[in-house]
Amino acid sequence: MTVRQGGAIPAGCRGWGPAFSRPRGVSGGVEMTAVDLEGVNQQLAGRPAEQVLEWAVSRFGDRVALACSFGAEDVVLADMLARAGLRARVFAIDTGRLHEATYEVMDRIRERYELALEVYFPQREAVERLEQEEGFHSFRRSLEARHACCAVRKVEPLSRALSGLDAWITGLRREQNVTRAEIRLAEEDRGHGGMVKVSPLAEWTDQQVWDYIRQHDVPYNLLHDRGFPSIGCEPCTRAVRPGEHPRAGRWWWESPEQKECGLHALQARLASDAATGSASSGGRSADG
Ligand code: SF4
Repeated sequence: MTVRQGGAIPAGCRGWGPAFSRPRGVSGGVEMTAVDLEGVNQQLAGRPAEQVLEWAVSRFGDRVALACSFGAEDVVLADMLARAGLRARVFAIDTGRLHEATYEVMDRIRERYELALEVYFPQREAVERLEQEEGFHSFRRSLEARHACCAVRKVEPLSRALSGLDAWITGLRREQNVTRAEIRLAEEDRGHGGMVKVSPLAEWTDQQVWDYIRQHDVPYNLLHDRGFPSIGCEPCTRAVRPGEHPRAGRWWWESPEQKECGLHALQARLASDAATGSASSGGRSADG
């Protein structure tokens, strides 16, 4: 699979960075009842992902942002926003442990769409403490140690990124993992104060994602060509073998129901509990 340049982006769709005001420092959480969200899901079910994006941006304006980790789904959403001229904010979390190929596609996306990407980095003191006290590969020691690293490098920066937002847009898809099988197009994110999580590609297949990327010549992370269907931090991601589950390369030393990093942890745990028949406490886990 090669990257083809030149998929033209309409001029009016470039430079669509943070078109609205910066976060106002108020925690998110809109008055969106379950009935409202149920209606929204019914209304948007089976609709093109672009319409889900349009609904999110028109409903939340400057208080919604795309969380972009530059995986295949995220670059699709970035391209859709640009093509539709939707002026949503886009943010990324640089954990400090990303693959070089991820930084490369970040720059390519920024340049192609003239995107004013908002970047959140972990707090320096927390990283220094983690590395001094636990070393540089503590995440391999136990699930708790891995969650502790994700908490410092991902969850805390994400909480700052989400501050002031009422909704966020993710590239989650139901078929990605057992922990994501119940993802809805729009749902209450109980792990983040009840804000709304919008997942326009929830119903999409992997084939649809790649068809879109090829059709529109969207820049993508070249690790996808090297056997990485799912890409996170460099020490916690490996290529998968043919026939392996797409998430098998993420935290490969853990069981499938544990493979979330805290960014989507509560829904993941509820899904895991449902799968195992155990009861969830409903509170936040160590990884958020
Ligand atoms: S994915 Fe790995 S390196 Fe990245 S924050 Fe989590 S434990 Fe740390």
